[in-house]
Formats: sequence, structure tokens, C-alpha cells
Amino acid sequence: MRFFDYNATTPLLPEARAAWLEANDACWLNPSSPYRAGAAAHARLEEARDRLAALLDVDSRRIVFNSGATEGNNAVLAGWSRTFGEKARVGVGATEHPSVLEAAKHHFDQRIDWLEPEPGGVIQPETLEGKAVSAVSIMAANNETGVLNPWQEWAKVCRGRGITMHCDASQWIGKMPLEGLGACDFVTACAHKFGGPKGAGFLLVPEGCVSGFVGGAQEGGRRAGTENLAGILSMLAALEAVEAKRATFSAKAKGDFLDALEEEMPGVTVIGRGQPALWNTVAIVLPDFKSSRWIRALERKGVLVSAGSACSTGKGGPSHVLAAMGLDPNQADRALRISSGWETTPDDWSALLDALLSSYKELKKEAAGSNS
Ligand code: PLP
Repeated sequence: MRFFDYNATTPLLPEARAAWLEANDACWLNPSSPYRAGAAAHARLEEARDRLAALLDVDSRRIVFNSGATEGNNAVLAGWSRTFGEKARVGVGATEHPSVLEAAKHHFDQRIDWLEPEPGGVIQPETLEGKAVSAVSIMAANNETGVLNPWQEWAKVCRGRGITMHCDASQWIGKMPLEGLGACDFVTACAHKFGGPKGAGFLLVPEGCVSGFVGGAQEGGRRAGTENLAGILSMLAALEAVEAKRATFSAKAKGDFLDALEEEMPGVTVIGRGQPALWNTVAIVLPDFKSSRWIRALERKGVLVSAGSACSTGKGGPSHVLAAMGLDPNQADRALRISSGWETTPDDWSALLDALLSSYKELKKEAAGSNS
């Protein structure tokens, strides 16, 4: 199988698997238990928090472990609705993940100022001009197109104007440098995008922040619920492993593939061509056939790609990301998302190109057959 859907989820890294197994054997007790063995689990939890804080260069008290980015994004928007009151407005990137968009609509409804991207997909801080918002949510890297937002600039602008800033960094962390993320007030992340387990993640919060996730006093009272210690230790092992190899990640193979595809398949459009983007991600609009047909044709050849966000699959309708970038529904209906990872080889990229070209021939043949 040639896997080109790393933005949906990633295979577990060996380091993460080993850490998960070790934790389930050696420290499966509840970190909140009163006996010494429980305290040992608690010590492992706090040690993990310190290791993560060191990677992110933040105070460890800012880290709240949780189940992943959907939870983190929901917690941020819910928290803002309590903190800022009934009249407050928020700025939300029009290309955010559904877990931000839906949470924003749920809590702020008509009080959202949508921050629109340029045609290339980038959302610039200038879009904030003339908007009186208490908080802003801007993702670091788009999950469907890989296009990067200048979140570092956003953090500066927001700080300067006393606006709270949240950055969904789920697709950034594990692929791009961690440096500077602490400048955002809130940051969401999930382990399964960087070789860690599903159901583990973290939220960076401002110091002193309280949460509405009530129950027990875990995570400093900010996120009730028995901690997923094995998941947390496994996530840490994954992030440390991926950070150790991050310098080897490169956009060259993707670039070569796109050059060859554009040459050999006239009518293909590369979305966000020339924009700052993740090294591993690209969205393309293919000729003639809907994405679902391309995906099935490619899968028959052992190549797995996606049409957009896995979380949007099943919702129907064209991608809101591509619509915000100005693509018409007909183009958006023919889009594929290709996302590679640390195990992808040049041979995989060649196989993807061959599979696209031969799928096109087959789809055209099928269409000609059904028209005759
Ligand atoms: N935010 C972004 C940008 C994502 O790509 C995803 C997953 O696709 C999520 C949030 C949701 O993450 P999780 O699966 O941890 O809930």
C-alpha cells in the first residue's frame, strides 16, 4: 500500500509503540491514587509535562493534556464564550478545521468575523483591520491544502492589540519547527498527526487559565478525567522521535511529483501553487471526474489519498476551504489531498504519478463505454 493520507492520521512510530506498551505495563495505575504506586504514575505524568514544556520552550504549567485537537478546539471556543461575555465577537479563519468552525458557530453564532484567505489560501493579519474582536482563531497549517498562515505575525499583532489568540497547530507540530508556538495564548495539537496514538493530545493555555471541563481535579482542575498516561507518554516519545528526524523532511519529492504531473496531465491545477506550504501536503484539482471516482480508482492500484479533511468526509458538499479560496463547486468536487510522511519514498511518489496517469486513462475509457 502507498499511503498518501498522513494528514488524516499517521502510523504509530516504533518509539511511540514501545512507550505505550511500557507505560501500560509499568505505570497503569491512576496518577491521582493516594498510595505510593499512584504517586509514581503521577511523577511520570509530570515528567512528561516537563519534557513537552522543554520541547515547546514554555512553562510546563501551560500544558493541559487531553484527547486531541477536536477537544482542544472545542475547549478554547467554549472557554472564550464564558470569559468574554455575551456581546464579544471573535475572528475565525474561514479555512479552519470543522472542529473550530462548528465550535465557533455554536458559541458565537452571529458574533463571528470571518477572516478570509487570499486566493492562494494564506490568511493575513491585515484581515483584522476594522474588526473589533476579543479573540482570534487562526490555524498554523491548513489540513486540506498544507498552506501556512503567518501565525507568528498573527501572535504579534494580537498581542499588540490585546486580542487573545488561538492557533490550531495540529498539522504543524511534528512537521515544522516548534519554535515560537508559546507566543500564541492557546495552541491545540494531537498526537496521531505525528506518529503518536489516537486519543491523546495537548492544549497550551495561558497561565492561570481555568477550564469548563469539570469533574475531578486532574490537570490542575482544567481538564477533569483520569489522564491517559500511556497515551501521553507515547505521544511524547513520538514527538521526540519526529523532532529528531525533522531536519531530514523535505518538499523536494512533492515538488518533483507536481512538476511531472503538470507536464503529463494537462488540465490539472495545483491549489496554492507558490504559497508557503507544509513540505508534505498538496491539494490538486484533477480533470473531468469527481474526487470520489479518482479515490476509488487509485485505491484499486493500492494508492490511498483523500478528498479533503477526514473529519469532513460524510458531511457532503464541496470543501469550505476550497470555496473560501475562490474555487467553484465544480472544481472543488474534483480535488484530491495528497499528504506524505516520513515513510514515503521516491518510489511511492513515482507510483502515485503512474497510478494517477493510468487511472485517468481508465476513467476516460469507462466514461466512453457508458456513453456508447
Ligand atoms: N485540527 C486540524 C487542523 C486537523 O487536521 C484535525 C484532524 O484532522 C483536527 C483539528 C482534529 O483532530 P483530532 O483528530 O485530534 O480530533
